Amino acid sequence: MSRTSTRIITIYFLTGISWILASDWLFTLLNYPEHPIYQTIKGCAFIIVSGLAFLYMLRKYEQRNTHYLKQLEELNTKLKSRAEELAASNLELEQFAYVASHDLQEPLRMITGFLNLLEKKYGTQLDTQAREYIYFAVDGATRMRQIISDLLEYSKMGIKDFPKENFAVTALLEEIKSLNQSVLNKTDVLISTGDLPQITGGRILLLQVFQNLILNAVKYRKPGKQALIEIKHKDSGAFWEFSVADNGIGIGRDSLDKIFVLFQRLHPREKFSGNGIGLAICKKIIENHGGQIWATSEEGKGSTFYFSIKK
Ligand code: ADP
Repeated sequence: MSRTSTRIITIYFLTGISWILASDWLFTLLNYPEHPIYQTIKGCAFIIVSGLAFLYMLRKYEQRNTHYLKQLEELNTKLKSRAEELAASNLELEQFAYVASHDLQEPLRMITGFLNLLEKKYGTQLDTQAREYIYFAVDGATRMRQIISDLLEYSKMGIKDFPKENFAVTALLEEIKSLNQSVLNKTDVLISTGDLPQITGGRILLLQVFQNLILNAVKYRKPGKQALIEIKHKDSGAFWEFSVADNGIGIGRDSLDKIFVLFQRLHPREKFSGNGIGLAICKKIIENHGGQIWATSEEGKGSTFYFSIKK
């Protein structure tokens, strides 16, 4: 029961009881003869007075409600316009990232090309230090090119209008295994799957999600131990929920929220290769499928990545 209803009922009871007691007391004081007509008058007067009081309280309640509703509507309108502004600025940012990364590729290719030419043509005339400088410059440019192409790839993932297909997840996983045969055969990996459903979504995009998660489970395995990867699903009403669990090195509790951020890595490049873009891409793809992605993990024991997609 709301606070207002409790208040109205309490006032009603108190007024009613006070009315009966006060009127009885008044009648006794004034020595009025006991006659049913007086009881009727008392009753009618109470109904009229309490009815008027009710009307007054309802009016006030309605007025306050209208006021709150108006405030809520104003807030909603503000929120909607903020969301629209945010969506527009996001789109602008994505377009900017696309254009910047696309246009940066060409001059970078030129830098790498000319540096290589310099080394090829004049390498013999340069001393070891100069050649080392060229090597570092080429290495830096190559890394920058990788980052730019990753950024380009990431900005392309922002497209929400992708073709949707109905496909079997088991077949998708078979395709991933055959695409990554060389890595999977080289490493001691065991992938187990339960019964997996037929789903609807961007097939190539979801292939990328499963592939990124599987290859990460292989990459971040415990040295000298077989990598066990278990892929399961759950039907949660309006969503399909998938999980990819591994028995790898795991992730510290504090780092779990960082791993889905673009270019965030937990290990130095010398230890594990990568650019910190895989999970950010997964997040974008899953969000564009109306779902969510998250992970649970225990350092040294393994991690489980979950994602949901709208049916
Ligand atoms: P990358 O692997 O290129 O660094 P990702 O975006 O795929 O980029 O992953 C981000 C970080 O999350 C990785 O650097 C790694 O530290 C951590 N990570 C991802 N998957 C796993 C996993 N299965 N086990 C342990 N750590 C993981």
